[in-house]
Amino acid sequence: MAFRFNTYGTCRAPGCNKSLRTNGGAVYCYSHASIDIRYGDPRQKRITRRELHRPLRAVARLRKRNAHADWHLMEENWHALVRQCSDIANSRDADLRYRRQAANIIVQIAESLEAARVVDTIAACFILEGEDVHNGHRRFVTDLAFRCCLLHALRRDAKAGRVFHVGGRDCRSHASYRVLHKRTRDTACDLIIEHMAVVGGFIARAELKHQEAQAAHKSALMETLTSLI
Ligand SMILES: [Zn+2]
Repeated sequence: MAFRFNTYGTCRAPGCNKSLRTNGGAVYCYSHASIDIRYGDPRQKRITRRELHRPLRAVARLRKRNAHADWHLMEENWHALVRQCSDIANSRDADLRYRRQAANIIVQIAESLEAARVVDTIAACFILEGEDVHNGHRRFVTDLAFRCCLLHALRRDAKAGRVFHVGGRDCRSHASYRVLHKRTRDTACDLIIEHMAVVGGFIARAELKHQEAQAAHKSALMETLTSLI
């Protein structure tokens, strides 16, 4: 008996029962497919600007506390990546199509964002991810989803590939970002993680350690205070 794909199915995203026409490839409804391609998983929510405020302030404080640290070395990691990406973007090798597109995304980000700002944004995302594991609930449903959210946060910050369209309930103009091919997206994520994960991870760990030290200090203080009563 020949196996056939059902031509009608239901969206596989949890909690969604929209029906979809499928040729065997599509597993999500239109809206979940577009979340999946943007953020790496149909369950993933993007990192909002508001969500980034607190970790960005934490990074700014960390820079202040450690003014003599070699911050320019962390920025150098980004510059090295951008240099590598401009080489890839200028190459004529046809096999590199997705890699070239991914490199272009990174060059675009670098054109409008200062390296220090890139480092801060990446570190802020890693802080969110670190707290995530810390509190036992998962802000990022998969590692890929985290990478995609980080890439999205950078593109949004750089306004790279931004288009405006009018619509929605409030009929105002909304910005959105050119949807990338999954291979382009994943390659861009890989390049960024490869060069920046160490920097982002270290800054995040420093901040989490600082938070823990503060919490320990607070509880020691409370203990002392209650012993006075
Ligand atoms: Zn759906």
